[in-house]
Amino acid sequence: MDDSYVDDSLTAAEQAFRETRGQTVETGLDVEDEATIQLRKACRLLTAARTLRERNGYYTVVIEASFVAVERSIQAFLLERGYAEARDPRYGHTKAYERAAEVNLFSREFADRLAEHWAQNRAAVYYRDAPASSKQATTMLSFAEDVHQYILDFASLSSDCCCE
Ligand SMILES: [Zn+2]
Repeated sequence: MDDSYVDDSLTAAEQAFRETRGQTVETGLDVEDEATIQLRKACRLLTAARTLRERNGYYTVVIEASFVAVERSIQAFLLERGYAEARDPRYGHTKAYERAAEVNLFSREFADRLAEHWAQNRAAVYYRDAPASSKQATTMLSFAEDVHQYILDFASLSSDCCCE
C-alpha cells in the first residue's frame, strides 16, 4: 500500500485529526464539560442506532452502538458525580461497571452480568462468531435506551440530553 492512493488517503486522514482548526464538528458535542460530552455521545449513538434500526437492518452496527451507548451513559454518570475522572484507569468498560457498582448505581451482580454480556456477546458479534439477529438488535437497543433514561432520571441529567 505504501506509495499508492491508500498512502495518500491515510495522510489526509492523519492530517484531519492533527489539524482540527476550522473543521465542522458534530452537533451537540462542542461542549466543554466531560460528563456532558460522554452523555451526548450516548445520545448520538442511540439516535444513530434508532435510525438504522428503523431501516430494518444493520443489526451488527445497532448492537455495537448500543453496547457503547450503555458504556458512555454509565461513564457520564461517574464523571458527573465525581466518581471518575476522564483519564482515570477506571474509565474502561469493565472498570466502569465495577466503579458504578461500588457507588451503588447497581449491584455487584448486575455489574457482573453486564461484563459477562459484553464479553460473551459484543465480542461474538464483533468477530462474527455468530451472525447478529433482529431480536438481538431490538432488545439491545431497548436496553441501552433504558440505561440512558435511568441515568438521566437518577442523576437529573435530562437537560443535557440531546436525544432526537
Ligand atoms: Zn440522550
